[in-house]
Amino acid sequence: MSEDSDIQTTPRGFQCTLCNVHLPNTASLDQHVKGKKHRTLSTVRATRKTQEEHSVFVSGINPEVSQTDVAEYFQQFGAVTDVIIDKDKGVYAIVQFTETDSIQAALSCVEHKLKGLNLRVKPREKKEFKLIPKKKNDPKNLQQVLDCLKPDLCQLVSVNAQMQHIVERFQLGENEKKARSLLVQLMQEVFVEFFPDSKILPFGSSVNTFGIHSCDLDLFLDLENTKVFQAHAKSTTEQAGEGMSDDGRSEDSILSDIDLSTATPADVLDLVAMILKRCVPSVNKVQVVSSARLPVVKFHHRELNLQGDITINNRLAVRNTRFLQLCSGVDERLRPLVYTIRYWAKQKQLAGNPSGAGPLLNNYALTLLIIFFLQNCEPPVLPTVDQLKDLACEEEECEIEGWNCTFPSQPIAIPPSTNTQDLCTLLAGFFSFYAKFDFASSVISLREGRALPITDFLSQNKEDDGLQEDQPTKAHQQRLKLGPVNLLDPFELSHNVAGNLNERCRHSFQRECQEAEKYCRSLQYQQKSAKGKSWGLMRLFTPHGEVQPSKTEQLTISIPFKSASLPEQLCNELHTAGDSFRLLWFQRVCSAVEGVLKSILKCNLAPSKDAAFGEDSAVAAEEMETTEASVKSSLSDSFDGAETQNETSPVSAVAVGAKRPLSSGSDTSVSPQSKKPRMARRGKPEFPPWICVQKHIVWAGRRKVKRELIKDADLRPEGSCVALESQVTARIIEKEPELKDPLEFSVQPQMLGGTESTRAVLKLEPTSDQTGVFHDFFHFLEAFLPKMVETLLEKEEASA
Ligand code: ATP
Ligand code: MG
Repeated sequence: MSEDSDIQTTPRGFQCTLCNVHLPNTASLDQHVKGKKHRTLSTVRATRKTQEEHSVFVSGINPEVSQTDVAEYFQQFGAVTDVIIDKDKGVYAIVQFTETDSIQAALSCVEHKLKGLNLRVKPREKKEFKLIPKKKNDPKNLQQVLDCLKPDLCQLVSVNAQMQHIVERFQLGENEKKARSLLVQLMQEVFVEFFPDSKILPFGSSVNTFGIHSCDLDLFLDLENTKVFQAHAKSTTEQAGEGMSDDGRSEDSILSDIDLSTATPADVLDLVAMILKRCVPSVNKVQVVSSARLPVVKFHHRELNLQGDITINNRLAVRNTRFLQLCSGVDERLRPLVYTIRYWAKQKQLAGNPSGAGPLLNNYALTLLIIFFLQNCEPPVLPTVDQLKDLACEEEECEIEGWNCTFPSQPIAIPPSTNTQDLCTLLAGFFSFYAKFDFASSVISLREGRALPITDFLSQNKEDDGLQEDQPTKAHQQRLKLGPVNLLDPFELSHNVAGNLNERCRHSFQRECQEAEKYCRSLQYQQKSAKGKSWGLMRLFTPHGEVQPSKTEQLTISIPFKSASLPEQLCNELHTAGDSFRLLWFQRVCSAVEGVLKSILKCNLAPSKDAAFGEDSAVAAEEMETTEASVKSSLSDSFDGAETQNETSPVSAVAVGAKRPLSSGSDTSVSPQSKKPRMARRGKPEFPPWICVQKHIVWAGRRKVKRELIKDADLRPEGSCVALESQVTARIIEKEPELKDPLEFSVQPQMLGGTESTRAVLKLEPTSDQTGVFHDFFHFLEAFLPKMVETLLEKEEASA
């Protein structure tokens, strides 16, 4: 059903105008046209077209006129298949006939009268079918909302006042809270009929003091007592002979064949869904999602236009909601900070996926990050979770699923903070705290109020490292899911609340924090504009998309320290290395980079012209022979120094010029471990960069060559993709002529970490690029190098 007119040829391939997607080649075009999205849209378009061609537009009706009235009236012109009346006002309708001839008959009739009303009948407007993209996070929409805030925000006198305004503007109103609580009450009444002694408990943003107008209603159905009373519940309803639902079936029949003590969560949720559908007025779009981390029944409430979730195994969430409420009561600066930062994160498209699915931060995780920052202020604004535990009395002791969830029930039990910083300062502090935070090498613990070293969590053999000794071990044996951001839940200590985040999201979060930090230092943040210009929070909320990468960023390739994907043996080594793990990791990365450039991409690597560098340089070799102990001591030395550096130098400034061994030959063995990198003078790499010469366009057409190699069984190399990639290069070199003027470029590796996310950064610079191909090669390397380095680290382990 696809039409040729949907496909347009572009300089870079094809564009499907129906689905609004770009397709680089005919193979992907074929696949797309056969795919589900394209076929569905084609069918929808065809159906719409048929409907348009068979229907008329009728105006002049009123809400008293029903669908049947309209259908009956128009039957005189031909068989009517459908009548759609507009939902909002009920003043117009679309009448669809079986035959197109009926349209003419209806249109040629001069007067249409129905229930005393004069109807007007017109041909249906033919609209071009267009895919309307989801607009929720469209920067234009975000900008529109912000524009509405502008007049109010800009006329306030201080950032503090602006932050309070954000709370007032977005917080749930009293009426909204009341409506939600009435709905909860109604559900309680309904559910208790079916699950005697059950309780419906709201949690999440509706009750944690951070709710906004559109936030969802999270409910926990507590069936703990119901299991005991299930038999009793059955018999009472049976005896009473009550509970006939409108379809004539006895309501207790819903329950009758399920024994709650043996039912699976999915069975119970099906039951919950059925009760919601049948017995709670105004509830629609009920759906069981069993695949979620915690299976859930989703529903929508029409009158309140509210999205809701019911879970049955979520006692911890009810407790962590209590914890957030408590924090809110302990220090009144938390709420304005949370509302402001949540709004900022939404504008920057960093947070806001309600189900926690996808790579964005969810609001719970973001709130924990704010609390962690406040625990780390000087002096602290909020106590650690361990300190809260010690402030609780005996009756407040609480353990859920084996996790200690003890904290005082009332804020009065917690001594007030001596920190007197205002909101404006704290907000700027939040950005600067996370702008410099080493996410890659830390596990954030609100329990202890500090960042725990990632190395504690790396070893397979020490699974309980990082867990509290007084925690029993049942659920706790579970290994923490490490990722680019590791944020321990304050109670369920084996759960990484930010485990869904990917590296790109971590990077965006930190880059936006850096931008915000910079802005917060300017006068525009702190001082109201006398000329009525945007100032304070307004500029902070500019939607994402306007931050341009800086020029220096453009020629660097970053290889993040990814704790989650390191091979096991390296994990163990890093675990043992403790504080000096960065250097050890960096050394391996450098060896792998050399392997990629030399063995896979067949670059000629030469020492720099201005320094001794190479196997035969006795001086350099001697310098390299650093013992493990001196590596450790020099490393900690450097880190100490890094912390005291001023802001204009690279933040962590641990720059290491590792000696990259120049192995001979073209084998893929890399990274002789015997060499140890030597520490550089502070902030300045002592070793010269690699000087690389590339004589062939090895980056062009790799995919095609790879496909050919894979297809051709004789040519297919055995083993890893490293071997395959090497063969691809060899093939290109064999077929393509040499560049007239070889490309020469330098690669300077640098290690960053400690006061920013741990990573290796490679600075690339062309030294001779007569043919102007360096930028193409660079863009290829940007994606290729980090991926291959990761593979090589694993391969090295496999062959060890
Ligand atoms: P909003 O609904 O406005 O986005 P929220 O705080 O209600 O904010 P939800 O994603 O609806 O966030 O989650 C509801 C509650 O479930 C949270 O308040 C928290 O108690 C719990 N929760 C959510 N995500 C997690 C998670 N990743 N780990 C542990 N608990 C979570
Ligand atoms: Mg919620």
